[in-house]
Amino acid sequence: MTTFAEFGLAEAITRALTEEKYVTPTPIQAQTIPLAMTGGDIIGIAQTGTGKTAAFALPILNRLAANPVRPERKTCRVLVLSPTRELSGQILDSFRAYGRHLRLQTALAIGGVPMGRQVRDLMNGLDILVATPGRLLDLVQQNALKLSGVEVLVLDEADRMLDMGFIHDIRKIVAKTPSQRQTLMFSATMPKEIAELAAHMLKSPQKVAVTPEATTVERIDQRVIHLDQAAKPDVLSDILKTEKVNRALVFTRTKHGADKVVRALQKSGIAAEAIHGNKSQNQRERVLAAFREGKIRTLIATDIAARGIDVDGVSHVINYDLPNIPESYVHRIGRTARAGADGIAISFCSRDEAPFLRDIERLIKLTIPSTDQRTDRRPGTATTQPAGRQNTRHADANGQRAGKGRRRSTRPPYPGNGQNRPQQAHGHGQARGNGHTEPRSPSNPDQIASVGFMRPPARERTKSPADAGGASR
Ligand code: AMP
Repeated sequence: MTTFAEFGLAEAITRALTEEKYVTPTPIQAQTIPLAMTGGDIIGIAQTGTGKTAAFALPILNRLAANPVRPERKTCRVLVLSPTRELSGQILDSFRAYGRHLRLQTALAIGGVPMGRQVRDLMNGLDILVATPGRLLDLVQQNALKLSGVEVLVLDEADRMLDMGFIHDIRKIVAKTPSQRQTLMFSATMPKEIAELAAHMLKSPQKVAVTPEATTVERIDQRVIHLDQAAKPDVLSDILKTEKVNRALVFTRTKHGADKVVRALQKSGIAAEAIHGNKSQNQRERVLAAFREGKIRTLIATDIAARGIDVDGVSHVINYDLPNIPESYVHRIGRTARAGADGIAISFCSRDEAPFLRDIERLIKLTIPSTDQRTDRRPGTATTQPAGRQNTRHADANGQRAGKGRRRSTRPPYPGNGQNRPQQAHGHGQARGNGHTEPRSPSNPDQIASVGFMRPPARERTKSPADAGGASR
């Protein structure tokens, strides 16, 4: 399926998708939606960021649209279980966005907030209830909810629910739902317990899977540059001007951010185009063709827009913004090193993004070397100082800064030949620094700051992404 129109979803749903600027189904959506629309059970192997929420939400909404009966009091027609409050909130937001033209009663039942409101929400019955398992059971035990009216049961991030100790709660919940239900289960991995749970609660399920691209990580030279947010545009243009870039894919977190980067690059004389959800299909195709043919060397993309990008010869992936979903990092850098080639992935990390970096390193089980230099400088190009706080000190004619023995050149250029590949992270969670291409001199603690980059203070590095507002979409 290459468009949402081909699924035969209700018009009210496709209209909402157009408003959301969804054009092409992601692979998990293309596989799941037609199967789920037949009413059968599905087990899906997919991670967050693959579009799995719409993969189950759209067929469910379609089912409700086709049979708009009033739910009975204290029941729900669709029950979605998810491991965390944040994820539950995001799932409900998605149902509401895609179902905005349907008249549906929806609510959230999560822990950590008073129950009264949730009990009231349930009173008149709901079409869709998204819940964390513990709170859901509490509501059932208090007779605020009966599960006898559940037509569709979704278990999202089943493996995470297992890790969080919810498996017994889930078994209890499932036992209270009618056996004549449709069950959709999604999990990023399939440990034995989840396979057993699936065997117990799904009937002849169809299996859908999107293969993770994690296998390429080791082949890619990865580096991180710690810098001020404000320095990013100049450092990017410096990299693009001085490195041997064949094709560069630059990732930003937002569409707006992508457009801003294009403008900044154009100002410094670098041709670049953006591809994201606000661009028409025609524009996207034109830009992609130009990138493929080498007419544009630099493409700025958001994660979702990059999904369909299937271009060989991307020498550099640059994370202008670090993704708040660590799996997205793996997907992004997998755009280089395609077809067995090696590639370079450079990540900018501002102070606010330090928690995201920590999560990424935990996921890939590597410490990404930190560097302030770039590889493969073209002959004749100066070893320019990256921007940022460049003008806070005077540089001499050789680009060396005056001052107390600041030796920017003590850091060897990243060789780009694999020597400085990311190292296995030992003792993860400790203060980073073992991944540097060279130990920082204790006598010169602000060595990095001297070239315009700022490492976040240790305090910042222990902040969770949730603290940094990373949980929201
Ligand atoms: P999920 O994996 O469900 O958390 O989705 C990740 C992000 O992708 C969410 O922000 C969705 O709104 C967005 N998204 C999902 N499917 C599509 C699509 N087909 N086109 C554009 N964006 C999408």
